[in-house]
Amino acid sequence: MKNILIVLVLIVLFAFNGIAQQYKNECATGKQKYYERLLKVSKINYPGDSNIDVTYYKLNIKINHVVKQINGVVTVKAKSLSDGLTGFFLDLRNVFTVDSVKSGNAMLSFTHPGDRINITLSQPVNTGEEFAVDVYYRGRPGSSGFGSFEFGSHNGTPAIWSLSEPYGASDWWPCKDTPADKADSSDVWITADELFYSVSNGSLEAIVENGDGTRTFKWKNHHPIAHYLISVAMTNYEVYKNYFVYAPGDTMEVIHYMYPEDLATNKTNLDKTPEMLSIFSNLFGLYPYIDEKYGHAQFGWGGGMEHQTVSSMGSFGSGIVSHELAHQWFGDKITCKDWHHIWLNEGFATYCESLYKEMKYGYSSYKSSIASEMSYAKNAFGTIYVQNINSVSEIFDGSRSYAKGAVVLHMLRGVLGDSTFFDVLYSYINDPQLAYGVATTEDFQRVAEEVSGKDLEYFFKEWIYGEDFPVYNIDWGYSKIDNDSYRFRITIEQSNHKNPVFFTMPVQVKVTTTAGDTLLTFFNNQKSQTFYADVTGEPQSIKFDPENWILKTVQSITTSVKTGGDVPDKFALEQNYPNPFNPTTIIKYSIPYGTEVKVNLIVYDLLGKTVARLVNEKQSPGNYSVTFDASKLSSGLYFYRLTAGDFSQTRKMLLLK
Ligand SMILES: [Zn+2]
Repeated sequence: MKNILIVLVLIVLFAFNGIAQQYKNECATGKQKYYERLLKVSKINYPGDSNIDVTYYKLNIKINHVVKQINGVVTVKAKSLSDGLTGFFLDLRNVFTVDSVKSGNAMLSFTHPGDRINITLSQPVNTGEEFAVDVYYRGRPGSSGFGSFEFGSHNGTPAIWSLSEPYGASDWWPCKDTPADKADSSDVWITADELFYSVSNGSLEAIVENGDGTRTFKWKNHHPIAHYLISVAMTNYEVYKNYFVYAPGDTMEVIHYMYPEDLATNKTNLDKTPEMLSIFSNLFGLYPYIDEKYGHAQFGWGGGMEHQTVSSMGSFGSGIVSHELAHQWFGDKITCKDWHHIWLNEGFATYCESLYKEMKYGYSSYKSSIASEMSYAKNAFGTIYVQNINSVSEIFDGSRSYAKGAVVLHMLRGVLGDSTFFDVLYSYINDPQLAYGVATTEDFQRVAEEVSGKDLEYFFKEWIYGEDFPVYNIDWGYSKIDNDSYRFRITIEQSNHKNPVFFTMPVQVKVTTTAGDTLLTFFNNQKSQTFYADVTGEPQSIKFDPENWILKTVQSITTSVKTGGDVPDKFALEQNYPNPFNPTTIIKYSIPYGTEVKVNLIVYDLLGKTVARLVNEKQSPGNYSVTFDASKLSSGLYFYRLTAGDFSQTRKMLLLK
């Protein structure tokens, strides 16, 4: 889904930062409150009945646009997930009247308190056994979230559409209201006044003229589908087609259901769809619903929504067209298991907008697209993992789930390199455990680690479950080794954050020397860290992260050219200062160039008992300084011992209180 309105409004807000600031000051919760003014507040999240596994939905609904009512029968097939299951529940808003629930010809007893239909089965079912019920219901649908069921119009003609994500499916039909449980297939039959051309998922099996001024459109989808991707869109559509040729002689229809008055002006954009299908099919594997269709159904909401095989669209720029199309892989083929992991839908689809630009217009177009996502992503607050999924505005936070989610994929590309990164995307979307199913961040991480052979725990922990982005302070220098060879030094300091305290990332540094450019990569995994590398030619300037792989702020870059003395050439443990001392003293030591070693610095007493462990970690070359606080110890002679690799040295110090 993509909400053009929010993006535009926020851009305006950030452009007039003073106004935004003033607005924030007026609001207790700033941006949060602002979003909630824009959106209708949804009902709370609703996990659905965990005792059943839905296998099939059929919506057979009559829609009367004059009285704005639905009169329908929904068939739900499901398997029991427990032995002796005597009943289960479906989610349906209590604005509806449920007339009856049947299993075959048998009437089932039910209650409909609140927003649940509690149904008693005619006989208990055991694990794995399938049963089917038909729910007969009628009423005027409610509308939550982004407008889950709307009666609108265009140019004086009625238009009706659904947009169920995230919690709106049960606003208009009885279902198990969670993305975690996909049906294996679905049918949607829509009966309405003959003025309507009614569109839904999958293939159009029949249009039946009922002879009473109504028509029934029978749509069949035979792929797994999440409940919120089942849709209707209806008006006096004009049907315009393209064809996606995916193999010699093999074509799929690309069908655009357009408001007649808007078709001509949007043809140029619509005609780009087959090429986008080709681009994404090349990257991620063939379009997932190639045996059905892809299409666009114009609707009255300003954004777009990736309903399976037929995105509902309020506008047709190539950004939003590529976004909703990419969702057919990332969102529809693999659906986030719950809304905590919405970035697996929205971050990926947003990233694909940049990928489309790259494949169509070249890498520099990709880079400028990512740079603009980055500037938006810097406004994200909180973790990409959505903490509060009761809030629609939290789930669909544009700077976080969308922009920062996309930037995370860009950063992963930087960490893995192009070929491994694209292997990861392809392997994820075609993973046998995940394809046509659901996924969490951990599933994506597993695939990324399996394909790359790298431990990426640090990456997902800090970028998906952490907040903010690194702020770097860089200092660099060099010393001459001999002739034209120089020892380059860079010290990377990160400002403090809460979670994580600092960011572990491989960082690239381009060093320009009198002999040319050298690109160096360092694995920065400490808050303050110094690296050395030998280069040819005298260093003149550096560029930190020249390819802009990392979402970051570089606060300062300073140069200390005369650094010959600060590259230690041997291990050393200096005498503490002051000595004697009370109660603190400073101990300095050096780790020489070319080694990263496990360093231990301990203090022990005359009896050999360890009284303090000052350092116990791997350290890079450099000069170190540790403060020892002996305020809890009694006066006397103490020893401190440095062990680093094969090196070991002990010195004495005197505490005088
Ligand atoms: Zn989206």
